[in-house]
Amino acid sequence: MLLTITATHTPASDIGYLFHKHPDKLQSFEMSFGHAHVFYPSVTENACVVCLLLDVDPVAIVRGKADSEGLLAQYVNDRPYVASSFLSVAISQVFQSALNGKSTERPELAATQIPLVAEIDVLPVRGGVRFLHAVFEPLGYTVEARRAPLDPLFPEWGESNYFSVTISRICTLADLLTHLYVLMPVFDNSKHYYVGDDEVEKLLVRGDGWLATHPLRDEITKRYLRHQRSLYREALARLMSDEPEQAEDSSQSEDAQSERALSLNEERLGTVLAALRASGASRVLDLGCGEGKLLRLLLKDRQFETIVGVDVSSRSLEIASERLKLDRLSPTQMERITLLHGSLMYRDQRLEGFDAAAIVEVIEHLDPPRLEAFERVVFNFARPKTVVLTTPNREYNVTWENVGAESLRHSDHRFEWTRDQFQTWADMIVKRFGYRVRFLPVGPVDPALGSPTQMAIFERD
Ligand code: SAH
Repeated sequence: MLLTITATHTPASDIGYLFHKHPDKLQSFEMSFGHAHVFYPSVTENACVVCLLLDVDPVAIVRGKADSEGLLAQYVNDRPYVASSFLSVAISQVFQSALNGKSTERPELAATQIPLVAEIDVLPVRGGVRFLHAVFEPLGYTVEARRAPLDPLFPEWGESNYFSVTISRICTLADLLTHLYVLMPVFDNSKHYYVGDDEVEKLLVRGDGWLATHPLRDEITKRYLRHQRSLYREALARLMSDEPEQAEDSSQSEDAQSERALSLNEERLGTVLAALRASGASRVLDLGCGEGKLLRLLLKDRQFETIVGVDVSSRSLEIASERLKLDRLSPTQMERITLLHGSLMYRDQRLEGFDAAAIVEVIEHLDPPRLEAFERVVFNFARPKTVVLTTPNREYNVTWENVGAESLRHSDHRFEWTRDQFQTWADMIVKRFGYRVRFLPVGPVDPALGSPTQMAIFERD
């Protein structure tokens, strides 16, 4: 498997500083799956060619693996010859500084956009040539692809899924390597190692700044995370909430709908605040606090002595922290409020011992199969005395021209419940976890459809 990168730059020998590999040497690195070799077949005055050659040892890659696919399949396969997740691993290990856009000797060059051409030989592409173009072109690459025949001796057997691919673009080396790092296993649609939670983190770090707005964002994310539903749902939710343009939560997207919706957002927060006040709570949680609109109101009210905002999106928390000017609060105010990065899918002891929790327009962002985990985290483990929870009332959507009966209010919503569905769910919570519940409409009530937002107040003794 060979990756060739040609950089046009004068003096071309400076490119060696970006790769942190000397142009005059052949360097070899031991990998878990074999070896990676780096060499420069050509360095002229204006152009530098660097090669990363992977020597994948078919025996090393099956060592210690269960014989699940049959011994023959383990040894006789395409893995040693194609660009795959092995290439991503090699890029991240052998070209680590270049991937991170760092260079001790030429920091400005690392940040400079230069004409780059990458040739990948051989790339397996599930989805064919159209997928290849659809992935690279929105990122600004020019793509050339040559499809290999299944067997050159028997052209009548037709074509294979293997391509020789050349992509060109004027960009930083870090951008090119980042795209290759993320996309190689996406084309291949497979990975040679176990894909767990930390792959979501890697994808969010490496996908920063381009993945959230890519037209094939969902497909890339799914493939990268090997189609593990819970992982890609989480990654997509976080990508969406980390993307400034689309960081709109549901209330903000309703804002866009009409003047009336703007006041709906305010009305919702006002109603939640009133319910929290009425509960007599002094220690409160805002679970899925987003950019901190409710936190701001809570801070203004002295009744709330301890305020904790929790969100899975670190970007939202950063924005909340800026908007609330947390670094400029007086020491007494600062003591009252804490922002926590965490997921409501996992038990978290930091959430225990509170009087009340607000969960405003959050549950509809959760994947239905994972709702149960959320229920246990909130009602069984954190177990505040009062829980004030809001969610859209789907029935009301028909009154909005740009939403309608069939669609949801926001692209990140997994579901929107009718009043019946919400009340059935809430009744189940009551039975399972020993709470009482009351329902309140938020926003103008339509006699047939109810209110745009529905709210439940859960209480326990
Ligand atoms: N409550 C805020 C934000 C609502 S948008 C408001 O009313 O303005 C939904 C929020 O839930 C987003 O900020 C999102 O990051 C967060 N969220 C989604 N899944 C989450 C999870 N598993 N754990 C914690 N927060 C989550």
